[in-house]
Amino acid sequence: MTLPATTRFAPSPTGFLHLGHVVSGLYSRIMAGESGRFLIRIEDIDTTRCTPELTAALREDLDWLGLSSDEPVRQQSRHLLQYQAVLDILRERRLLYPCFCTRREIADAATQTAPDGSVVYPGTCRHGASHADREPVWRLDMGRALDVLQQVPGWQELGRGRIAGQADAFGDIVLARRDTGVSYHLCVTHDDALQGVTTVTRGRDLYEATSVQRVLQELMGWPEPVYAHHALIMGADGQKLSKRDGAEGVRALRQEGWTARLVLDHPLVRQALAASFIPADRRPDR
Ligand SMILES: [Zn+2]
Repeated sequence: MTLPATTRFAPSPTGFLHLGHVVSGLYSRIMAGESGRFLIRIEDIDTTRCTPELTAALREDLDWLGLSSDEPVRQQSRHLLQYQAVLDILRERRLLYPCFCTRREIADAATQTAPDGSVVYPGTCRHGASHADREPVWRLDMGRALDVLQQVPGWQELGRGRIAGQADAFGDIVLARRDTGVSYHLCVTHDDALQGVTTVTRGRDLYEATSVQRVLQELMGWPEPVYAHHALIMGADGQKLSKRDGAEGVRALRQEGWTARLVLDHPLVRQALAASFIPADRRPDR
């Protein structure tokens, strides 16, 4: 556990930096340890929601906080061809198929819900489909993928041990979206492998996604990282804090006169970190 780790903080610039980001960034920095590597990656493949202005603002706020990457910041929108190359490999192995269904058609035909709460695709296009007027999404044939792997891969969760994967309960997930041509699961696993990330740190809202991402890692022969999902900032009602309360935005706090040190030490940030797994030798206030 005390081996040097490579961690990453991978925000999507769909808005300004908020305290949830601060928890994630700080947690990743802490989990890298003093001799590890801490990387920042901008996950901006959704170019309609992630604008250059928001990316610049996010990076400026991170600099102000003193959260700096040990290597040049990787920006996903600049590497789309790398993700396309992975899709080509999976397509060649007949692990992907085009799906022409609309959201509505899927909702009407679906009967199951995945562990992350999403609708399980009913498999309508799995054995061949075409549609002259529609662009397809590309789905992973999960049954075939798990046959190839001959297992449902699990993962190592720090502080908890080996977790059983549930990829079979997700069905045929989308790996290439209609609008971006790629997907979150594809880009995140590719980049973690490329950048040598050994410890994937992120919020507990992405815990279930690990099942699916482990399948991609195994299919592509990428190394298996360990995972550490941190607690989320909770509102007074026990629900995940949303952005509706502008007061938690780092920009707003700056304008009110907060220093970077005070923001990093914000009671909500402390509370979330206290509820997360951190090895004793990496606790910041030990
Ligand atoms: Zn379909």
